[in-house]
Amino acid sequence: MPADHDMIDVAIGQAHLPSLIVTLAHLTDRMDLLRDAWRPRYLPYTDQRDGGLSTEEQAEVAAMARELLPQYLRERPSPEAACPSQATLVRLMNFLAGVEIPERYLALLKEELGLGRRERLRGCSGPARFRVLVIGAGMSGLLAGVKLKEAGYQFDIIERGSDVGGTWHANTYPGCRVDSQNHLYSFSFFPNHDWPHGYSTQEALKAYFRKAADHFALWDHIRLDTIVTDLRFDPAIGQWRVRLCGSGGREETVTANAVISAVGQLNTPHIPLIAGQDLFEGPQFHSGAWRHDVDLKGKAVAVVGTGASAFQLIPEVASRARRLTVYQRTAPWVSPTPDYHAAVGEGQKLLFRALPFYANWYRFWLFWMMTEGVMPALKVDPAWKADDGSVSAANQRIRNALVDHMRRQVGDRSDLLDKVIPKSPFGGKRTLRDDGRWIDCLKRDNVELVVEKIQEITPQAIVTEDGRARAADAIIYGTGFQANRFLQSAQVWGSDGVELNETWCGDPRAYLGITIPGFPNFFCVYGPSTNLVAQGSIVFMSECAVRYIIGALDLLRRRNAAALEPKEDVTRAYVSWVDGENARMAWGMAGVTNWYKSATGRVSQNWPFPLADYWKLTRAPNPEDLIFTPGPLAVCDNARVEA
Ligand code: NAP
Repeated sequence: MPADHDMIDVAIGQAHLPSLIVTLAHLTDRMDLLRDAWRPRYLPYTDQRDGGLSTEEQAEVAAMARELLPQYLRERPSPEAACPSQATLVRLMNFLAGVEIPERYLALLKEELGLGRRERLRGCSGPARFRVLVIGAGMSGLLAGVKLKEAGYQFDIIERGSDVGGTWHANTYPGCRVDSQNHLYSFSFFPNHDWPHGYSTQEALKAYFRKAADHFALWDHIRLDTIVTDLRFDPAIGQWRVRLCGSGGREETVTANAVISAVGQLNTPHIPLIAGQDLFEGPQFHSGAWRHDVDLKGKAVAVVGTGASAFQLIPEVASRARRLTVYQRTAPWVSPTPDYHAAVGEGQKLLFRALPFYANWYRFWLFWMMTEGVMPALKVDPAWKADDGSVSAANQRIRNALVDHMRRQVGDRSDLLDKVIPKSPFGGKRTLRDDGRWIDCLKRDNVELVVEKIQEITPQAIVTEDGRARAADAIIYGTGFQANRFLQSAQVWGSDGVELNETWCGDPRAYLGITIPGFPNFFCVYGPSTNLVAQGSIVFMSECAVRYIIGALDLLRRRNAAALEPKEDVTRAYVSWVDGENARMAWGMAGVTNWYKSATGRVSQNWPFPLADYWKLTRAPNPEDLIFTPGPLAVCDNARVEA
């Protein structure tokens, strides 16, 4: 689509300038555009569009772009541009990141950049009637479906919900949207240049995942409204017997050669037990099971919790309720994100759609800045001494910037300041994105932020430990999920008749977060130790895991084996290596509370190393790590249905 000059000006005005500079340098092969004066000077943990350039520098970049853009919006890139030399790529990457990117990242970042041919899984055309059963049709389950299909495996996806989308189907609370930038929080192989917002709403995300199911023709493989209740590995046939409960309670058992659990970590609401709760007369519900039939207009509403979900729904509830009381246990860190609710401009969309490589470079930038760029500030410096909760000099710099920002927003409401500044370190739990709504909301006349502990619930009120009762017509629990028990909806019996949830006992562990000793051909996506706190997108971790799983299935075939599982000692050493590093991160410190830790205090959910390490570890399974059950793959006959 030819763009007129006005539109080009709009596009430049909305562009992420460092990505635009790098894209034009790449297309023109003019490394002189990577001028020192235009080198981005990012503030930590922000997504400034101007890259920290002065107004004059921005005007210079705009003039350069105005000259070059018309040609490149019209023409396809040259073959040389499509395949730049390694040296050129490194220069472009370093400029955009604003730092020298260590060598070990280059292969991964090149892949993230998506230049050249995207690697397709080596269609091994899985053996006839070798079936894989995937549990869950959320982001990870759909991803598994796409890649199993690409590799030629037969598969079924069993989903307990009435639609695909997982968390983006289940969570329908007002204000629900993603807090990772969408051009990163999306499949690397299925870009969307039309995201309506940089941080899209739940509806837009669900629509994206439905579109992926359409595009990759997954619907015929998906069974909705069906719960997997029981999985048993039968060593006699080398297969999993899987008990399903469909709509109307119809039960059946199917068999599968391999099972992929893609149930997510955050699927079962956690509602704290509070004395008197059962006596409450009004409606009470969890953020993840929103009661759309409850009209909050004109009511006195209580929200318990100020985590990621509550943080999003509270401003929405405040505008409906007569009175809103927010019960906060721990204050969240809030990262200034001015465009958090902003629509993606038409000029920006034009660049995504029509300027070759712009979308790739922008995604690369998000990947670097929002992932690896922030990692060093999350690590505890053992020599660091400070009484503000920070864990290192870099951590304190971010802390101070965020506190200054809050202080400015709080203004003359000094009573709020102490309540909203977290005592825990930055990175101790998920940092929330905000464009100013949070503190604006807490400053409203009809909103009160209560930091005293809840003691009990009476039929019409919540009473805090200071003895004060505040009336409530409805209670909303934004109190998170039972992440450490993410597989508890099913019983999973391994080869020795051991049940997985009992083995884990609320403290899950798995080799690479994917495989578990004693559970042959059972794989997890977004499993234990694969969650990210502040350094990236879970989609990336799931893509890594699925690639590993397909590699493992291929390995079975190549070895003519029936099943595989990780070695016990390899798993133990791996878990201890990950645990050691988690304990050195802000979220692992003693005294820091979050959903990443199990009851033992061990961090069971997070990945603490650079993403490049997980990418490398999961490129392909190492046969040395695995135990193979000899014998050809058993044929799976799903025609057999047991009542
Ligand atoms: P969460 O982060 O675990 O927050 C739960 C909140 O409830 C916390 O403020 C917690 O306080 C509080 N709480 C828990 N038990 C309590 C009790 N007994 N009494 C008082 N307060 C209590 O849960 P979430 O907000 O549902 O978010 C979970 C995760 O989902 C996030 O970390 C994020 O990864 C993901 N998420 C993402 C998005 C997004 O992308 N937009 C949105 C929502 C959720 P403490 O902090 O003191 O424990």
